Amino acid sequence: MRIILLGPPGSGKGTQGDLIGQKYGFPKISTGDLLREAVQDSTPLGKKAEAAMNRGDLVSDDIVMQMVEARLAQGDCQKGYILDGFPRNINQAHMLEGIADQRVEVVLDIRMSEKKLIERLSARRICPQCGNIYNLSIKAPTEPGVCDVCRAGLVQRQDDKPEVILERLRIYHQETEPLIAYYQKKAKYHPIEGDRSIKSVFQNIQAVLKTELAKSNRSEAIR
Ligand code: AMP
Repeated sequence: MRIILLGPPGSGKGTQGDLIGQKYGFPKISTGDLLREAVQDSTPLGKKAEAAMNRGDLVSDDIVMQMVEARLAQGDCQKGYILDGFPRNINQAHMLEGIADQRVEVVLDIRMSEKKLIERLSARRICPQCGNIYNLSIKAPTEPGVCDVCRAGLVQRQDDKPEVILERLRIYHQETEPLIAYYQKKAKYHPIEGDRSIKSVFQNIQAVLKTELAKSNRSEAIR
């Protein structure tokens, strides 16, 4: 099953993507994580992407597409995958459709009010070592400032600073929100209410995926 996690920054795509991955066994591909890794490793691609990321702008479609295409070609993606943070605009959606046999089956759009998004992003902390995500209000680490998994010191993402958050939300409305109508027309779109506990959002997602999996099994059987 191929799943797109749409939804604004801070809506919980990363956390829900991890839970879906654990339950259904599909790899989660976060373009944000791939880009941050490239920046950290100072690769040529990372060097090109860094300035746009720090401003809260989108990285160029070509750079992102190059990364996504290479990742989707790997063996673990052949049965399905979860895309977190991609596509981010209509052009990227077209580019994804251009990759052979990469038909997206389910689009999950985690919805949340702007006020809540700002609160969540401001409270987010990440582990620079293992990538685990925390939130000081709803998913705090056991020991303040320390990753539960690998004990590294937690940090705030550069683009979770207040002025950059507002720019990211502006870009989301301008570039990414039009994808809602785009996928609604293709009847793949499922809105998910994101302003609830992690567990209850995941229950809602599981209910949608159960129906969609049954549909795709039925059509496989017919083929
Ligand atoms: P995220 O972790 O998804 O919030 O992404 C962090 C940053 O990485 C974004 O603000 C963009 O600068 C960049 N980025 C991530 N995914 C994409 C994408 N699909 N297209 C362009 N830029 C992206």
